[in-house]
Amino acid sequence: MTNLTVEASELTRLYGGREAVSNVSFELKQGEVLGFLGPNGAGKSTTMKMLTGNLAPSAGSVRICGIDMIENPKEAKALIGYLPEMRPLYKEFTVDEYLTIAARLHRVAGKNIKKAVETAKERCGLTHMSKRLIENLSNGYQQRVGIAQAIIHNPMVVILDEPTVGLDPIQIRDIRALIREIGGERSVILSTHILPEVEMVCDHVQIIDKGKLVFNGGIDVLKRQRIGNKLLIGFNQAPTVAELLKIKGLTEAEVADNNMMRVRFAEGVAPHEAIVQAAVKNKWGLYQIAPDQTSLEDVFVQLTYQEIEPEAS
Ligand code: ADP
Repeated sequence: MTNLTVEASELTRLYGGREAVSNVSFELKQGEVLGFLGPNGAGKSTTMKMLTGNLAPSAGSVRICGIDMIENPKEAKALIGYLPEMRPLYKEFTVDEYLTIAARLHRVAGKNIKKAVETAKERCGLTHMSKRLIENLSNGYQQRVGIAQAIIHNPMVVILDEPTVGLDPIQIRDIRALIREIGGERSVILSTHILPEVEMVCDHVQIIDKGKLVFNGGIDVLKRQRIGNKLLIGFNQAPTVAELLKIKGLTEAEVADNNMMRVRFAEGVAPHEAIVQAAVKNKWGLYQIAPDQTSLEDVFVQLTYQEIEPEAS
């Protein structure tokens, strides 16, 4: 028995003959947080709607804890909590009233509703807001209510669309901690535009571009890709590129900003010591040597590089 919570298999969705999502497959296990990234229009919302059973795929299938979304939509949907980008809040209700309605909508048995509301409030730090009207809550607290309604029935899979958009830094920190906590026990899929958020919160990352998955892997793989095989080196008496390239293992060298040199080295090579030795021998005046990290933004742009199409006339 595996603990797979989500199995998306060759999901495709057509809109008027155009593929908005094309042949997307992935799996998620209990206890994992998956970050779903991509530029606007890439197909994130369409994929999430198919995962939550709100949109039928043109082809492919979704299984939630082994239950097929098309064959048994009621059972499959009961295992999912969803916070769409537009929060489904009834702002004229109090937190208690709204969460009670949400519990009913998620078919929590009548005798368990009070307990479910209390538990969801506790987990989302809302207990002291029970009697407040939702419309009077700050953006961050409204977002907590949105997450509370998504977890009120203790679902196996929680899907959150852009959960930290528009929040201040303290609210963001709290919501991220909450996502990690939920992800520790269940599975979470979150879409986000905030790239550092992915490194802080997610175990797995998936990048979608023009409907296709262009990256699907562990957060470690993405981090390694960032660190890469580049060094940024500062010399007082900088050598020429040709002189530097005499050092074994270096494959490329160039002058970077502030008179620093950037070098690349082959996979599996650690050229640091050789560089230091050459610098001492040749009196290059080495004062700094450090890994040159590619920003997550740059990795993202590399993976989703798209030629700018001329606007349709
Ligand atoms: P994202 O959430 O990544 O911004 P979407 O899933 O919303 O992307 O959209 C993917 C593509 O599908 C876009 O090209 C979008 O214009 C198109 N699309 C989304 N919804 C519809 C719809 N209801 N009808 C036609 N095209 C749509």
